[in-house]
Amino acid sequence: MKQGSPLAAKGQVNMGQQHFDVVIAGGAAVGSAAAYFLTRDSAFSGRVAVMEPDPSYQHCATALSAASIRHQFSTAENIRMSLFGTEFLRHFGETMSVEGSRPDPEFHEGGYLLLATPDGMPTLHENQALQRSLGADIALLDAAQLAARFPWMQVDDLAGGALGMSGEGWLDAYGMLQGMRHKAIAQGAIYMPRRVVGIDHQRGHVSSVRLDDGQTVGCGALVNCAGTGAPALARLVGIDLPVQARKRSVFYVQCPQPLPGCPMVFDPTGAYFRPEGTGFIMGIAPPEDQDPESFDFDVQYSLFEEILWPTLAARVPAFEALRSGRSWAGHYDMNLVDHNVIVGLHPAIDNLFFANGFSGHGMQQSPAVGRALSELIVHGAFKTLDLSRLGWRRILDNDPIIEKNVV
Ligand SMILES: Cc1cc2nc3c(=O)[nH]c(=O)nc-3n(C[C@H](O)[C@H](O)[C@H](O)COP(=O)(O)OP(=O)(O)OC[C@H]3O[C@@H](n4cnc5c(N)ncnc54)[C@H](O)[C@@H]3O)c2cc1C
Repeated sequence: MKQGSPLAAKGQVNMGQQHFDVVIAGGAAVGSAAAYFLTRDSAFSGRVAVMEPDPSYQHCATALSAASIRHQFSTAENIRMSLFGTEFLRHFGETMSVEGSRPDPEFHEGGYLLLATPDGMPTLHENQALQRSLGADIALLDAAQLAARFPWMQVDDLAGGALGMSGEGWLDAYGMLQGMRHKAIAQGAIYMPRRVVGIDHQRGHVSSVRLDDGQTVGCGALVNCAGTGAPALARLVGIDLPVQARKRSVFYVQCPQPLPGCPMVFDPTGAYFRPEGTGFIMGIAPPEDQDPESFDFDVQYSLFEEILWPTLAARVPAFEALRSGRSWAGHYDMNLVDHNVIVGLHPAIDNLFFANGFSGHGMQQSPAVGRALSELIVHGAFKTLDLSRLGWRRILDNDPIIEKNVV
Protein backbone atom coordinates (compact mmCIF):
# COMPACT_ATOMS: atom_id res chain seq x y z
CA MET A 1 0.00 0.00 0.00
CA LYS A 2 1.29 3.40 -0.97
CA GLN A 3 1.94 6.44 1.23
CA GLY A 4 -1.12 8.68 0.97
CA SER A 5 -3.45 5.71 0.83
CA PRO A 6 -6.09 5.90 3.56
CA LEU A 7 -5.21 2.32 4.43
CA ALA A 8 -1.63 3.28 5.23
CA ALA A 9 -2.83 4.97 8.43
CA LYS A 10 -5.15 2.25 9.72
CA GLY A 11 -7.20 2.77 12.86
CA GLN A 12 -7.03 0.59 15.96
CA VAL A 13 -7.92 -3.06 15.42
CA ASN A 14 -10.14 -4.47 18.15
CA MET A 15 -8.83 -7.97 18.87
CA GLY A 16 -11.56 -10.57 18.65
CA GLN A 17 -13.61 -8.92 15.94
CA GLN A 18 -13.22 -9.69 12.24
CA HIS A 19 -11.22 -7.06 10.43
CA PHE A 20 -11.02 -6.25 6.72
CA ASP A 21 -8.81 -3.69 5.05
CA VAL A 22 -11.73 -2.65 2.88
CA VAL A 23 -15.45 -3.16 3.48
CA ILE A 24 -17.71 -2.44 0.51
CA ALA A 25 -21.36 -1.80 1.34
CA GLY A 26 -23.40 -2.99 -1.66
CA GLY A 27 -22.25 -5.75 -4.01
CA ALA A 28 -24.09 -5.03 -7.27
CA ALA A 29 -22.35 -3.59 -10.37
CA VAL A 30 -20.38 -0.83 -8.68
CA GLY A 31 -19.47 -2.70 -5.49
CA SER A 32 -18.45 -5.81 -7.43
CA ALA A 33 -16.40 -3.77 -9.91
CA ALA A 34 -14.59 -2.12 -6.98
CA ALA A 35 -13.98 -5.54 -5.39
CA TYR A 36 -12.67 -6.91 -8.68
CA PHE A 37 -10.24 -4.04 -9.31
CA LEU A 38 -9.03 -3.95 -5.71
CA THR A 39 -8.27 -7.66 -5.56
CA ARG A 40 -6.40 -7.62 -8.88
CA ASP A 41 -4.11 -4.68 -7.97
CA SER A 42 -0.65 -6.08 -7.28
CA ALA A 43 0.04 -3.12 -4.96
CA PHE A 44 -2.82 -4.24 -2.72
CA SER A 45 -2.53 -7.26 -0.47
CA GLY A 46 -5.38 -6.48 1.94
CA ARG A 47 -8.60 -8.31 2.72
CA VAL A 48 -11.82 -7.18 1.06
CA ALA A 49 -15.34 -7.90 2.28
CA VAL A 50 -18.45 -7.03 0.30
CA MET A 51 -21.65 -6.70 2.32
CA GLU A 52 -24.61 -7.47 0.06
CA PRO A 53 -27.90 -8.17 1.86
CA ASP A 54 -29.66 -9.43 -1.27
CA PRO A 55 -27.60 -12.01 -3.15
CA SER A 56 -30.59 -12.58 -5.48
CA TYR A 57 -30.09 -8.98 -6.68
CA GLN A 58 -33.77 -8.84 -7.60
CA HIS A 59 -34.33 -5.27 -6.40
CA CYS A 60 -31.07 -3.54 -7.26
CA ALA A 61 -30.90 -1.04 -10.12
CA THR A 62 -28.24 -3.07 -11.91
CA ALA A 63 -30.55 -6.03 -12.49
CA LEU A 64 -33.55 -3.82 -13.35
CA SER A 65 -31.77 -1.45 -15.72
CA ALA A 66 -32.19 -1.03 -19.46
CA ALA A 67 -28.60 -2.35 -19.59
CA SER A 68 -27.33 -0.10 -22.31
CA ILE A 69 -24.07 1.73 -22.87
CA ARG A 70 -23.57 4.95 -24.81
CA HIS A 71 -20.74 7.33 -25.53
CA GLN A 72 -23.09 10.19 -26.30
CA PHE A 73 -22.64 12.41 -23.26
CA SER A 74 -21.68 16.08 -23.09
CA THR A 75 -19.25 15.72 -20.17
CA ALA A 76 -15.76 14.44 -21.00
CA GLU A 77 -15.52 12.24 -17.90
CA ASN A 78 -18.82 10.52 -18.72
CA ILE A 79 -17.69 9.84 -22.29
CA ARG A 80 -14.34 8.48 -21.11
CA MET A 81 -15.96 6.25 -18.48
CA SER A 82 -18.28 4.72 -21.06
CA LEU A 83 -15.46 4.25 -23.57
CA PHE A 84 -13.65 2.29 -20.89
CA GLY A 85 -16.87 0.36 -20.21
CA THR A 86 -16.94 -0.71 -23.86
CA GLU A 87 -13.33 -1.91 -23.82
CA PHE A 88 -13.98 -3.73 -20.56
CA LEU A 89 -17.01 -5.50 -22.07
CA ARG A 90 -15.18 -6.42 -25.27
CA HIS A 91 -12.63 -8.37 -23.22
CA PHE A 92 -15.00 -9.50 -20.49
CA GLY A 93 -14.82 -13.24 -21.22
CA GLU A 94 -11.02 -13.39 -20.93
CA THR A 95 -10.58 -11.02 -17.99
CA MET A 96 -13.41 -12.51 -15.93
CA SER A 97 -12.69 -16.13 -16.69
CA VAL A 98 -12.54 -18.34 -13.61
CA GLU A 99 -11.05 -21.83 -13.89
CA GLY A 100 -11.47 -21.78 -17.65
CA SER A 101 -15.12 -20.75 -17.56
CA ARG A 102 -15.65 -17.52 -19.54
CA PRO A 103 -18.76 -15.50 -18.66
CA ASP A 104 -20.56 -13.86 -21.59
CA PRO A 105 -22.46 -10.63 -20.86
CA GLU A 106 -23.89 -10.79 -24.40
CA PHE A 107 -22.64 -7.34 -25.35
CA HIS A 108 -24.31 -6.30 -28.61
CA GLU A 109 -22.89 -3.17 -30.27
CA GLY A 110 -26.22 -2.05 -31.70
CA GLY A 111 -25.55 1.70 -31.32
CA TYR A 112 -27.49 4.63 -29.89
CA LEU A 113 -29.41 7.04 -32.07
CA LEU A 114 -30.16 10.43 -30.50
CA LEU A 115 -32.75 12.25 -32.62
CA ALA A 116 -32.97 16.04 -32.83
CA THR A 117 -35.43 18.66 -34.04
CA PRO A 118 -33.89 21.80 -35.63
CA ASP A 119 -33.59 23.35 -32.14
CA GLY A 120 -31.57 20.41 -30.84
CA MET A 121 -29.07 20.18 -33.73
CA PRO A 122 -26.47 22.70 -32.43
CA THR A 123 -26.15 20.72 -29.18
CA LEU A 124 -25.87 17.45 -31.10
CA HIS A 125 -23.08 18.95 -33.26
CA GLU A 126 -21.21 20.31 -30.23
CA ASN A 127 -21.47 17.03 -28.33
CA GLN A 128 -20.47 14.94 -31.33
CA ALA A 129 -17.31 17.03 -31.81
CA LEU A 130 -16.30 16.42 -28.19
CA GLN A 131 -17.21 12.71 -28.36
CA ARG A 132 -15.19 12.20 -31.54
CA SER A 133 -12.21 14.09 -30.12
CA LEU A 134 -12.18 11.57 -27.25
CA GLY A 135 -12.35 8.57 -29.58
CA ALA A 136 -16.08 7.84 -29.72
CA ASP A 137 -17.33 6.59 -33.09
CA ILE A 138 -20.38 8.85 -33.51
CA ALA A 139 -21.75 9.95 -36.90
CA LEU A 140 -24.20 12.76 -37.63
CA LEU A 141 -27.04 11.98 -40.03
CA ASP A 142 -29.46 14.46 -41.57
CA ALA A 143 -33.18 13.74 -41.89
CA ALA A 144 -32.83 12.27 -45.39
CA GLN A 145 -30.07 9.93 -44.25
CA LEU A 146 -32.19 8.89 -41.27
CA ALA A 147 -35.15 8.13 -43.57
CA ALA A 148 -32.96 6.07 -45.89
CA ARG A 149 -31.33 4.10 -43.11
CA PHE A 150 -34.44 3.61 -40.94
CA PRO A 151 -37.42 3.57 -43.36
CA TRP A 152 -39.72 2.46 -40.53
CA MET A 153 -39.21 5.78 -38.73
CA GLN A 154 -41.22 9.00 -39.20
CA VAL A 155 -38.69 11.87 -39.63
CA ASP A 156 -40.80 14.85 -40.82
CA ASP A 157 -40.20 16.92 -37.66
CA LEU A 158 -36.50 15.97 -37.36
CA ALA A 159 -33.38 17.78 -38.51
CA GLY A 160 -31.11 14.81 -37.88
CA GLY A 161 -29.59 12.44 -35.38
CA ALA A 162 -26.32 11.21 -33.91
CA LEU A 163 -25.62 7.51 -34.35
CA GLY A 164 -23.02 5.38 -32.59
CA MET A 165 -21.34 3.36 -35.33
CA SER A 166 -19.47 1.08 -32.91
CA GLY A 167 -18.89 0.70 -29.19
CA GLU A 168 -22.40 1.61 -28.00
CA GLY A 169 -25.11 -0.97 -27.39
CA TRP A 170 -26.67 -3.21 -24.79
CA LEU A 171 -25.92 -6.30 -22.74
CA ASP A 172 -27.02 -8.61 -19.96
CA ALA A 173 -26.32 -6.39 -16.93
CA TYR A 174 -27.04 -9.18 -14.46
CA GLY A 175 -24.53 -11.37 -16.33
CA MET A 176 -21.93 -8.60 -16.11
CA LEU A 177 -22.52 -8.19 -12.39
CA GLN A 178 -22.25 -11.94 -11.77
CA GLY A 179 -19.07 -12.17 -13.86
CA MET A 180 -17.39 -9.45 -11.80
CA ARG A 181 -18.64 -10.93 -8.53
CA HIS A 182 -17.33 -14.40 -9.35
CA LYS A 183 -13.97 -13.05 -10.43
CA ALA A 184 -13.65 -10.88 -7.32
CA ILE A 185 -14.40 -13.94 -5.18
CA ALA A 186 -11.84 -16.01 -7.11
CA GLN A 187 -9.31 -13.25 -6.39
CA GLY A 188 -10.04 -13.39 -2.66
CA ALA A 189 -12.95 -11.02 -1.97
CA ILE A 190 -15.43 -12.29 0.62
CA TYR A 191 -19.14 -11.63 0.05
CA MET A 192 -21.34 -11.65 3.14
CA PRO A 193 -25.17 -11.60 2.87
CA ARG A 194 -25.39 -8.71 5.32
CA ARG A 195 -26.61 -5.11 5.41
CA VAL A 196 -24.50 -2.37 7.00
CA VAL A 197 -26.72 -0.78 9.65
CA GLY A 198 -24.21 1.19 11.71
CA ILE A 199 -20.85 2.89 11.27
CA ASP A 200 -18.44 3.47 14.16
CA HIS A 201 -16.34 6.57 13.61
CA GLN A 202 -14.28 8.91 15.71
CA ARG A 203 -12.45 12.08 14.76
CA GLY A 204 -13.31 11.75 11.07
CA HIS A 205 -12.23 8.12 10.72
CA VAL A 206 -14.33 4.97 10.34
CA SER A 207 -13.10 2.08 12.48
CA SER A 208 -15.83 -0.52 12.07
CA VAL A 209 -19.27 -1.25 10.67
CA ARG A 210 -22.22 -2.89 12.35
CA LEU A 211 -24.18 -5.50 10.43
CA ASP A 212 -27.83 -6.54 10.53
CA ASP A 213 -26.96 -9.81 12.30
CA GLY A 214 -25.46 -7.91 15.25
CA GLN A 215 -21.81 -8.43 14.24
CA THR A 216 -19.28 -5.64 14.30
CA VAL A 217 -16.59 -5.82 11.65
CA GLY A 218 -13.45 -3.67 11.70
CA CYS A 219 -12.37 -1.91 8.51
CA GLY A 220 -9.47 0.15 7.20
CA ALA A 221 -11.72 1.79 4.64
CA LEU A 222 -15.44 1.72 3.92
CA VAL A 223 -16.92 2.15 0.43
CA ASN A 224 -20.50 3.24 -0.07
CA CYS A 225 -21.81 1.37 -3.14
CA ALA A 226 -25.33 1.04 -1.80
CA GLY A 227 -27.26 2.55 -4.72
CA THR A 228 -30.53 3.99 -3.45
CA GLY A 229 -29.51 2.82 0.05
CA ALA A 230 -26.51 5.19 -0.07
CA PRO A 231 -28.11 8.28 1.52
CA ALA A 232 -29.17 6.22 4.58
CA LEU A 233 -25.58 4.98 4.98
CA ALA A 234 -24.23 8.52 4.66
CA ARG A 235 -26.67 9.72 7.33
CA LEU A 236 -25.09 7.23 9.78
CA VAL A 237 -22.01 9.47 9.80
CA GLY A 238 -23.97 12.73 9.59
CA ILE A 239 -23.35 13.33 5.88
CA ASP A 240 -26.19 14.60 3.73
CA LEU A 241 -25.85 12.84 0.35
CA PRO A 242 -28.09 14.69 -2.16
CA VAL A 243 -29.37 11.50 -3.77
CA GLN A 244 -32.95 10.22 -3.97
CA ALA A 245 -34.60 7.09 -5.35
CA ARG A 246 -36.62 7.91 -8.49
CA LYS A 247 -38.75 5.19 -10.04
CA ARG A 248 -38.35 4.32 -13.72
CA SER A 249 -40.54 1.75 -15.52
CA VAL A 250 -39.39 -0.36 -18.43
CA PHE A 251 -42.02 -1.77 -20.81
CA TYR A 252 -41.49 -4.83 -22.98
CA VAL A 253 -43.54 -4.97 -26.18
CA GLN A 254 -43.90 -7.09 -29.29
CA CYS A 255 -44.25 -5.28 -32.62
CA PRO A 256 -45.98 -7.05 -35.54
CA GLN A 257 -43.48 -5.58 -38.01
CA PRO A 258 -39.68 -5.94 -37.82
CA LEU A 259 -37.58 -2.73 -37.54
CA PRO A 260 -34.36 -3.69 -39.37
CA GLY A 261 -31.12 -2.22 -37.97
CA CYS A 262 -32.94 -0.71 -34.99
CA PRO A 263 -30.46 0.83 -32.51
CA MET A 264 -31.29 2.20 -29.03
CA VAL A 265 -33.33 5.22 -30.16
CA PHE A 266 -33.84 8.37 -28.09
CA ASP A 267 -36.66 10.57 -29.28
CA PRO A 268 -36.39 14.35 -28.70
CA THR A 269 -39.23 13.91 -26.16
CA GLY A 270 -36.98 11.72 -23.98
CA ALA A 271 -38.83 8.50 -24.86
CA TYR A 272 -36.57 5.59 -25.82
CA PHE A 273 -36.83 2.11 -27.32
CA ARG A 274 -34.46 -0.65 -28.40
CA PRO A 275 -34.62 -4.28 -29.49
CA GLU A 276 -34.73 -6.91 -26.76
CA GLY A 277 -35.05 -10.57 -27.65
CA THR A 278 -37.87 -10.92 -30.18
CA GLY A 279 -39.43 -7.61 -29.12
CA PHE A 280 -38.48 -4.19 -27.78
CA ILE A 281 -38.11 -2.42 -24.46
CA MET A 282 -39.17 1.18 -24.05
CA GLY A 283 -39.49 3.86 -21.40
CA ILE A 284 -39.68 7.55 -20.54
CA ALA A 285 -39.14 9.58 -17.37
CA PRO A 286 -42.38 10.76 -15.76
CA PRO A 287 -43.11 14.50 -15.89
CA GLU A 288 -40.97 16.27 -13.25
CA ASP A 289 -43.95 17.17 -11.05
CA GLN A 290 -44.95 13.47 -10.95
CA ASP A 291 -41.53 12.12 -10.04
CA PRO A 292 -41.30 12.01 -6.25
CA GLU A 293 -38.85 10.00 -4.19
CA SER A 294 -40.21 6.47 -4.33
CA PHE A 295 -39.18 3.00 -3.19
CA ASP A 296 -42.04 0.82 -4.46
CA PHE A 297 -41.85 -1.35 -7.57
CA ASP A 298 -45.32 -0.66 -9.00
CA VAL A 299 -45.10 -0.23 -12.77
CA GLN A 300 -46.35 3.14 -14.07
CA TYR A 301 -48.84 1.75 -16.62
CA SER A 302 -50.63 5.09 -17.04
CA LEU A 303 -47.32 6.60 -18.20
CA PHE A 304 -47.21 3.96 -20.92
CA GLU A 305 -50.82 4.44 -22.03
CA GLU A 306 -50.98 8.23 -21.84
CA ILE A 307 -47.51 9.37 -22.87
CA LEU A 308 -45.06 6.70 -23.99
CA TRP A 309 -47.11 4.66 -26.45
CA PRO A 310 -48.66 7.64 -28.29
CA THR A 311 -45.25 9.35 -28.48
CA LEU A 312 -43.45 6.34 -29.89
CA ALA A 313 -46.30 5.37 -32.22
CA ALA A 314 -45.98 8.84 -33.76
CA ARG A 315 -42.26 8.16 -34.31
CA VAL A 316 -42.61 4.53 -35.45
CA PRO A 317 -46.05 3.94 -37.01
CA ALA A 318 -45.63 0.15 -36.62
CA PHE A 319 -45.85 0.66 -32.84
CA GLU A 320 -49.57 1.53 -33.28
CA ALA A 321 -50.18 -2.23 -33.30
CA LEU A 322 -47.75 -3.25 -30.55
CA ARG A 323 -48.68 -5.83 -27.93
CA SER A 324 -47.43 -5.19 -24.42
CA GLY A 325 -45.68 -7.88 -22.44
CA ARG A 326 -43.81 -8.08 -19.15
CA SER A 327 -42.89 -4.73 -17.60
CA TRP A 328 -40.91 -3.80 -14.50
CA ALA A 329 -39.83 -0.85 -12.40
CA GLY A 330 -36.52 -0.03 -10.74
CA HIS A 331 -34.95 3.05 -9.20
CA TYR A 332 -32.35 5.55 -10.31
CA ASP A 333 -30.10 6.82 -7.52
CA MET A 334 -30.71 10.38 -8.68
CA ASN A 335 -28.14 13.03 -7.83
CA LEU A 336 -30.36 16.05 -7.23
CA VAL A 337 -27.49 18.52 -7.79
CA ASP A 338 -26.31 17.62 -11.28
CA HIS A 339 -27.25 14.05 -12.27
CA ASN A 340 -23.62 12.89 -12.24
CA VAL A 341 -21.89 10.39 -10.00
CA ILE A 342 -20.28 11.58 -6.76
CA VAL A 343 -17.07 9.62 -6.43
CA GLY A 344 -14.41 9.80 -3.74
CA LEU A 345 -13.95 11.00 -0.17
CA HIS A 346 -16.05 13.54 1.69
CA PRO A 347 -13.83 16.01 3.59
CA ALA A 348 -15.44 15.04 6.93
CA ILE A 349 -14.23 11.39 6.95
CA ASP A 350 -10.82 10.30 5.70
CA ASN A 351 -11.61 6.64 4.87
CA LEU A 352 -15.23 6.56 3.70
CA PHE A 353 -15.43 6.48 -0.10
CA PHE A 354 -18.58 7.28 -2.05
CA ALA A 355 -19.74 6.15 -5.51
CA ASN A 356 -23.33 7.25 -5.66
CA GLY A 357 -25.85 9.35 -7.57
CA PHE A 358 -25.33 7.70 -10.97
CA SER A 359 -28.74 9.02 -12.10
CA GLY A 360 -29.42 6.36 -14.71
CA HIS A 361 -25.97 5.63 -16.14
CA GLY A 362 -24.19 3.64 -13.45
CA MET A 363 -24.30 0.22 -15.06
CA GLN A 364 -22.07 1.36 -17.93
CA GLN A 365 -19.89 3.43 -15.58
CA SER A 366 -19.40 0.65 -13.05
CA PRO A 367 -16.10 -0.67 -14.51
CA ALA A 368 -14.55 2.82 -14.66
CA VAL A 369 -15.81 3.82 -11.23
CA GLY A 370 -14.81 0.48 -9.67
CA ARG A 371 -11.30 0.99 -11.04
CA ALA A 372 -11.26 4.60 -9.84
CA LEU A 373 -12.29 3.58 -6.32
CA SER A 374 -9.58 0.96 -6.19
CA GLU A 375 -6.97 3.54 -7.27
CA LEU A 376 -8.10 6.02 -4.64
CA ILE A 377 -8.03 3.37 -1.92
CA VAL A 378 -4.72 1.74 -2.84
CA HIS A 379 -2.75 4.66 -4.28
CA GLY A 380 -4.51 7.67 -2.72
CA ALA A 381 -5.10 9.21 -6.17
CA PHE A 382 -6.70 8.54 -9.55
CA LYS A 383 -4.14 6.84 -11.79
CA THR A 384 -5.85 6.08 -15.11
CA LEU A 385 -8.87 8.36 -15.51
CA ASP A 386 -8.96 11.58 -13.52
CA LEU A 387 -12.43 11.82 -11.97
CA SER A 388 -11.55 14.58 -9.48
CA ARG A 389 -14.15 16.95 -10.96
CA LEU A 390 -16.81 14.36 -10.05
CA GLY A 391 -15.92 14.41 -6.35
CA TRP A 392 -17.70 15.97 -3.38
CA ARG A 393 -16.12 19.43 -3.84
CA ARG A 394 -18.55 20.52 -6.55
CA ILE A 395 -21.49 19.36 -4.43
CA LEU A 396 -20.33 21.22 -1.32
CA ASP A 397 -19.56 24.35 -3.39
CA ASN A 398 -22.87 24.04 -5.25
CA ASP A 399 -20.96 24.13 -8.51
CA PRO A 400 -22.78 21.51 -10.63
CA ILE A 401 -21.32 19.86 -13.72
CA ILE A 402 -24.26 19.97 -16.08
CA GLU A 403 -24.61 16.88 -18.28
CA LYS A 404 -26.78 17.85 -21.26
CA ASN A 405 -27.57 14.29 -22.30
CA VAL A 406 -29.50 13.03 -19.27
CA VAL A 407 -31.96 10.29 -20.22
C1 LIG B 1 -35.09 1.33 -15.13
C2 LIG B 1 -33.62 1.63 -15.10
C3 LIG B 1 -32.94 1.71 -16.31
C4 LIG B 1 -31.56 1.94 -16.30
N1 LIG B 1 -30.89 1.90 -17.48
C5 LIG B 1 -29.54 2.04 -17.48
C6 LIG B 1 -28.81 1.91 -18.68
O1 LIG B 1 -29.36 1.64 -19.74
N2 LIG B 1 -27.47 2.06 -18.64
C7 LIG B 1 -26.81 2.33 -17.48
O2 LIG B 1 -25.60 2.47 -17.49
N3 LIG B 1 -27.48 2.44 -16.31
C8 LIG B 1 -28.82 2.31 -16.29
N4 LIG B 1 -29.52 2.43 -15.13
C9 LIG B 1 -28.80 2.84 -13.92
C10 LIG B 1 -28.01 1.71 -13.35
O3 LIG B 1 -28.82 0.56 -13.25
C11 LIG B 1 -27.46 2.10 -11.97
O4 LIG B 1 -26.87 3.38 -12.03
C12 LIG B 1 -26.41 1.11 -11.51
O5 LIG B 1 -26.88 -0.20 -11.66
C13 LIG B 1 -26.04 1.39 -10.07
O6 LIG B 1 -25.29 0.30 -9.59
P1 LIG B 1 -24.96 0.22 -8.04
O7 LIG B 1 -24.15 -0.99 -7.84
O8 LIG B 1 -24.42 1.55 -7.60
O9 LIG B 1 -26.39 0.14 -7.34
P2 LIG B 1 -27.46 -1.05 -7.28
O10 LIG B 1 -27.44 -1.88 -8.48
O11 LIG B 1 -28.76 -0.40 -6.92
O12 LIG B 1 -26.95 -1.90 -6.06
C14 LIG B 1 -26.88 -1.39 -4.76
C15 LIG B 1 -26.73 -2.58 -3.82
O13 LIG B 1 -26.51 -2.08 -2.49
C16 LIG B 1 -27.16 -2.94 -1.59
N5 LIG B 1 -27.38 -2.17 -0.35
C17 LIG B 1 -28.28 -1.19 -0.11
N6 LIG B 1 -28.16 -0.74 1.15
C18 LIG B 1 -27.13 -1.43 1.72
C19 LIG B 1 -26.54 -1.42 2.99
N7 LIG B 1 -26.95 -0.59 3.98
N8 LIG B 1 -25.52 -2.29 3.26
C20 LIG B 1 -25.07 -3.15 2.29
N9 LIG B 1 -25.63 -3.19 1.05
C21 LIG B 1 -26.64 -2.35 0.76
C22 LIG B 1 -28.44 -3.36 -2.30
O14 LIG B 1 -28.91 -4.61 -1.82
C23 LIG B 1 -27.99 -3.43 -3.76
O15 LIG B 1 -27.70 -4.74 -4.19
C24 LIG B 1 -30.88 2.18 -15.09
C25 LIG B 1 -31.58 2.11 -13.88
C26 LIG B 1 -32.93 1.82 -13.88
C27 LIG B 1 -33.66 1.72 -12.59
